Amino acid sequence: MLKVTKFGGSSVSDASQFRKVKAIIESDESRRIAVISAAGKRNSEDHKLTDLLYLCHAHLTYGVSCDEIFNTIASRFIEIRDELGLSFRVEDEIDAIRKSLNRDMSVDELVSRGEYLTSRLMAEFLGFHFLDARDCIFMDYDGSFDMVKISSAVSEALAEYGNLVIPGFYGRIPSGKVRVMSRGGSDITGALAASAIKADVYENWTDVSGILMADPRIVKNPRPISRITYGELRELAFMGASVLHEDAVQPVRESGIALNIRNTNEPDNPGTLIVERIDGDSKEDGRFITGIAGRRNFDIITVVKHNMDCNEGLRKVLKILDQNNTPVEHISMGLDSFAFVISQAAVGNRLDGVVAEIRNAISPDDIKIRDGIALVAAVGRKMGFRPGISGKLFKALGENGVNIRTIAQDADELSIIVGVENSQYETAVRVLYEGFAG
Ligand code: ASP
Repeated sequence: MLKVTKFGGSSVSDASQFRKVKAIIESDESRRIAVISAAGKRNSEDHKLTDLLYLCHAHLTYGVSCDEIFNTIASRFIEIRDELGLSFRVEDEIDAIRKSLNRDMSVDELVSRGEYLTSRLMAEFLGFHFLDARDCIFMDYDGSFDMVKISSAVSEALAEYGNLVIPGFYGRIPSGKVRVMSRGGSDITGALAASAIKADVYENWTDVSGILMADPRIVKNPRPISRITYGELRELAFMGASVLHEDAVQPVRESGIALNIRNTNEPDNPGTLIVERIDGDSKEDGRFITGIAGRRNFDIITVVKHNMDCNEGLRKVLKILDQNNTPVEHISMGLDSFAFVISQAAVGNRLDGVVAEIRNAISPDDIKIRDGIALVAAVGRKMGFRPGISGKLFKALGENGVNIRTIAQDADELSIIVGVENSQYETAVRVLYEGFAG
């Protein structure tokens, strides 16, 4: 059994969190690789080192001294080192970075030092070999990864040293320079390392005990999801449930690796296990929803034209939306009309222009725009091919005064999505949770 672990910023925010990480790693010898984020917030008023490093670079760009911020950053590392009695010479590293701090220092190089230094400390603390991401996470200029090179670099180092700590969030581009990923990118590094060594499990350690069945800001104490398929996870994440970096899922899913979301502060909790297939679900157990997610602020645009060839009309509309960088969320079609849902954030201030282009291209009898729509998705593998589910959901929503403006079901019957007024969004989530998931 081989496990790759990734510890997020809150899991490595100070010396006491480092101790928790060590206890977790030492309790299971299959946890052979630890991918580490930069130290995060210790409390709600605190700052993530990554944010401070970005701030530092912004000061440099404007020629303003960033000494004070840099001292704060340095003291966080020194404090962890001293409290844990480590010997790593943080000061030397900090001095070297300080010397190269100037307008020419790339933001990527500077910001990556958060992960680099946190990982150096962790490697010494765990007694694991430090493998710099610069030497194993190979990226192209467009941000894509060279999986062949990554696999050989990580596997060779693991074979040679037995255990590894790898800093998350950055890699090396062909010029040899450091490139950071998008925020939260350590999740991706963990997934790449897991895929590189064909791990059995990728454990993503964070500060929540797995994925919750609904947004805790809407539903009080939602139940955690213990097992979920990758397909369900994708539906939930697409509909707004934030779990881990979206680009972290594909490398492990493609390699057939299970993903386990765990809580560093509650290590005995098994968290959420994400796998490709779950066999042996009991269809009898009443709970057929795995999770509920949703997003506000969509527009439904209905195009009406008598005797229209809807396929032709739709083709023209899709082209216009594509040219305006606006993806379509859902489409429904009638004989003389079709309607589509787009996100207000995606269309931005181009909506009037898009509507004008549609008028020009199709000369419709009418175009109706309903704005302020929220989409709510009930996601569950157990809903598939089971008659009566949508009826139950719609009945519950109706009985609670929620008016459904549009309905969509994905072809695999993995999710049922309803469009409701923004103002009824939270009620819809609560009704679905309380009726079918809680
Ligand atoms: N430290 C980086 C961030 O705050 C990357 C990560 O933690 O995954 O986004």
